[in-house]
Amino acid sequence: MRKHFKYLALPAVLAVAGAMIIPPAVAAPGPVADASAQTAQTPLERQVLAPGNGWASAGSGTTGGSAAAGANVHDVSTRAELQAALASAGSLPSIIRVHGTIHANTALDGTVLRCEDYAAGTGYSLEQYLTDFDPATYGTGQEPEGTQETARRAAADNQAKTIRMDIPSNTTLVGATPESAIEGAALRINGASNVIVRNLAFRDAHDCFPAWDPTDGAEGNWNSEYDLLQVINKATNVWIDHSEFTDAPNFDDKQPLYFGRPYQVHDGAVDVTNGSDLVTMSFNRFADHDKLLLIGSTDSATRGDPGKLRVTIHHNVFENIGQRAPRVRYGHVDLYNNLFKVGAAGSPVPYVYTLGAGVESHLYAEANAFVLPQGIDPAGIVARYKGSTIATVKNAVNGKIMDLRAAYNAAATAENHLAEDTSWVPTLRTKVHPAQAVPGLLNGATGPIYTAGDSR
Ligand code: CA
Ligand code: CA
Repeated sequence: MRKHFKYLALPAVLAVAGAMIIPPAVAAPGPVADASAQTAQTPLERQVLAPGNGWASAGSGTTGGSAAAGANVHDVSTRAELQAALASAGSLPSIIRVHGTIHANTALDGTVLRCEDYAAGTGYSLEQYLTDFDPATYGTGQEPEGTQETARRAAADNQAKTIRMDIPSNTTLVGATPESAIEGAALRINGASNVIVRNLAFRDAHDCFPAWDPTDGAEGNWNSEYDLLQVINKATNVWIDHSEFTDAPNFDDKQPLYFGRPYQVHDGAVDVTNGSDLVTMSFNRFADHDKLLLIGSTDSATRGDPGKLRVTIHHNVFENIGQRAPRVRYGHVDLYNNLFKVGAAGSPVPYVYTLGAGVESHLYAEANAFVLPQGIDPAGIVARYKGSTIATVKNAVNGKIMDLRAAYNAAATAENHLAEDTSWVPTLRTKVHPAQAVPGLLNGATGPIYTAGDSR
């Protein structure tokens, strides 16, 4: 039986999955006139975000490339074809259907590019880098500078030119089948608006050239550059649905320690930063990743974040995530009906926390289900990073309703307490289910499950 057929057995409210199914006579929001013609027969790649489905339905709504003319509908199966399709339509509505697995670390002729290929000609050598910046001789007071750091940057530039890809405004990027994937790419929605990403697996955006920073944290850190999908620089109206984001097949616990610190080749999974706004993430599967969803990258108010960074995260599964699911600064973030399956000891990513309350954050977490292994204290689900408030409403931990904020506060020192956020109540929502119903509801319903042309 094909995987996506399971979906047919779900209740009707899930079967439409927040996509817009309306009679033709009802006008749709958004700039694309064709969207008003969407019906129950509308194929996956022509669907638009339904009104009321999260923050991405605010403003002008999110229609992506649903109205693309035939010349702007692309079928791609290689990095070269994907990049050509991303470049070809400009900001005209365009649909890109991904077939099979696209490997981003490949030359234009399809040859696999390894890390040493990017380093060729730059003089970079990890062995020499480790010698030059060994804290025992270089110290821990300043960031690396010198021949090997210059060479590292040159090699990193070579990789970035290959794997970094920007999705332009008015684009729908979809997997053609439930097996469609993009591996090794650092995709961005960079200053663009009205973008839909659905039915795709995004895997392992590894950085071949992590940078050592001895001044980061108490013991120094290896930092990497790439997120699987970055929403950045005032990007708006973005719907990310039924997709998968994972480090697989290159898990963090397979990396070595250098200078006593993990050689971290991944950065975020889906980070929303620099004044970006109006994002809905629905029915995705996030798995095996440490720092997952960073919403707001700086405490400073100078990057346009205040009043922006409004994100809805609903009906997603989070499996074996380390931290930041999400971590929020400034934004009004609505998190409901998600399932968090925390990894047990020995899983590829150690658990740190789930909900991070940062500077001026407004995180509203309602009716989420947490499954914690033995030995993980529910008081650690919430963490405070200079935030002052949070709303946690009717969430469940291992099947029992629990006040997550009260659990956190009971274990925190007084100066770290979080007050109840009474400043807003989210309204742009699909149906909210009771937390205890969420694990059953999401079983088989998240991640890529469609075939392009499907009208479900
Ligand atoms: Ca980092
Ligand atoms: Ca990032």
